Amino acid sequence: MIPYGRQNINDDDIAAVVDVLQSDFLTQGPKVPEFESAIAKYCGVDHAVAVNSGTSALHIACLALGLGEGDWLWTSPNSFVASANCALYCGAEVDFVDIDEYGNMCASTLAEKLKQAERDGRLPKIVVPVDFSGHSCAMVEIHRLAQQYGFKIIEDASHAVGAEYLGRPVGSCEYSDITIFSFHPVKLITTGEGGMALCKDASYAQAMMQLRSHGITRDQQVMESIDAGPWYYEQQQLGFNYRMTDIAAALGLTQLARLSEFIIKRRELRSLYDQFLADLPLSLPRESSDVRSSWHLYVVRLNLDAIERTRREVFESLRTKGIGVNVHYIPIYQQPYFRKIFGSSYDLPNMRQYYEGALTIPLHPQMTESDVEKVVLALKDSVL
Ligand SMILES: *Cc1c(COP(=O)(O)O)cnc(C)c1O
Repeated sequence: MIPYGRQNINDDDIAAVVDVLQSDFLTQGPKVPEFESAIAKYCGVDHAVAVNSGTSALHIACLALGLGEGDWLWTSPNSFVASANCALYCGAEVDFVDIDEYGNMCASTLAEKLKQAERDGRLPKIVVPVDFSGHSCAMVEIHRLAQQYGFKIIEDASHAVGAEYLGRPVGSCEYSDITIFSFHPVKLITTGEGGMALCKDASYAQAMMQLRSHGITRDQQVMESIDAGPWYYEQQQLGFNYRMTDIAAALGLTQLARLSEFIIKRRELRSLYDQFLADLPLSLPRESSDVRSSWHLYVVRLNLDAIERTRREVFESLRTKGIGVNVHYIPIYQQPYFRKIFGSSYDLPNMRQYYEGALTIPLHPQMTESDVEKVVLALKDSVL
């Protein structure tokens, strides 16, 4: 089976992890801050807070921006459920904004929805655009709306580590308050499980550093009581254990060293697909001129009017042929848990139409040109 995505681990990665295992620190040692600095430098941003998953990063980002009961968070329905769950963890309400041609939150639909929400007195406190498949959202437009309507932006860049927008790395936080990454093995680089929250604002970074470690501080500058002795620390708010281990951070550092190479390979594979799939009854994923996508996913859309099979039949036929296709994503609002909140009639037209024909075909740096040919042949066989 050629999987739709896969981690790429080499001897340097393994040696780095073994080094940590033989050192004094397994967690909270020197590798976590080193990885944070390296990511911050790569993205050209001031602060990076490492955590144990992208989901944890979303949660503490929401808390640092003050999300709570009675507040609204809006995100994209075309995402992993974590992009919406972070609101519910904070006791806030969630809603969705329909998608554009790139599978991202549509900026003009967002503008319309904000107008209506202002009339209803239900403006969101936070909007979470998701850089679907590694292609940046229209962040300039979304940022402009944030200034007009006063919401905060958490950019979910789980798919877009190593991508660029308007010539700058995603993660620079030029158009977001906080940007988060995931280092799950299927993403661009991995730490096993892991995530990062990036920001320019020192107070957000400080809040997130406390929140990832039980709400505890050892910093004398911010203590509420007089320092009682060298053992003294203070829990100042309710936090969590969301810390990244040194083992994970060491892996992250060696992975980051190869990120550019991974992106180049992904972009080459994407060009091959574009070339070989051009004549099939499919819509191929596009890239805006503002964007240099990381091509985390290559999602084709089946032109079901021109194909004699259903998406399910095409999917199953490809799986039988050893092609690890997938579907990204089931609309979040269709999940049984969310149906209980929204009711079963909640629907967004672009998302529905997109979901009906979407199919993710394999794309990851280990793939060879002959793997690409295999996928293309199998796909031809399944749709023609
Ligand atoms: C993977 C992913 C997450 C969650 O990241 P984890 O590290 O698995 O917790 C959040 N949002 C999106 C869009 C993702 O793809």
